Amino acid sequence: MPTAQFLVAAAHSRDFPTDQGGEVAFAGRSNVGKSSALNALLQRKKLARTSSTPGRTQQIIFYGLGEGEQRVVDLPGYGYAKVPAAVKEQWGRLLEGYLHDRESLAGLVLIMDVRRPMRDFDRQLLEWADYFDLPLHVLLTKADKAKKNEARRTLEFLRADLASRFPEVSVQLFSALKGTGVEEAREKLGEWLGL
Ligand code: GDP
Repeated sequence: MPTAQFLVAAAHSRDFPTDQGGEVAFAGRSNVGKSSALNALLQRKKLARTSSTPGRTQQIIFYGLGEGEQRVVDLPGYGYAKVPAAVKEQWGRLLEGYLHDRESLAGLVLIMDVRRPMRDFDRQLLEWADYFDLPLHVLLTKADKAKKNEARRTLEFLRADLASRFPEVSVQLFSALKGTGVEEAREKLGEWLGL
């Protein structure tokens, strides 16, 4: 994976980098482990800021890979059920606009906690990916926190369940802490970005 560098944090589509080349966007509920997954995949200790950083929730953050026209994108996620309706609405508009318009978007990576998969946020993303015809790859993260056979069972259940409804969805186990699944996820990114 080429070195990643911060490009821009955009709250509006007018601030997005030029829509050319290829990019892969990461989504997940806050605190699910998205920043940790990005950092593990991009071999950077502190590239992605954690979602506790104030003001970050409403921004789409773009990172450039190497010298080329490839990017990795950190999509805003909201956390728990009690998000004010106005925030959800703004989040929805920004995200939906991005997914709808972005020509260079090659695929989505959805991060879920292996112990608590398929929350409302995750279902919404899956529906959007399906609607916009975008391939989506699920990282079931914090696999180190689950019992091995339980993590396996969740993986197999979701693979079967999602495959029947969303043919362009793939699923794997992941742990940013232990490095589990890092190579498998990088392969997917490489495939989508032509690296
Ligand atoms: P984000 O809000 O989705 O970006 O989540 P973070 O990456 O900031 O992670 C949230 C919390 O989960 C932090 O305390 C991380 O240390 C922890 N965490 C993230 N990934 C893993 C993992 O794979 N295993 C374990 N055990 N903890 C993790």
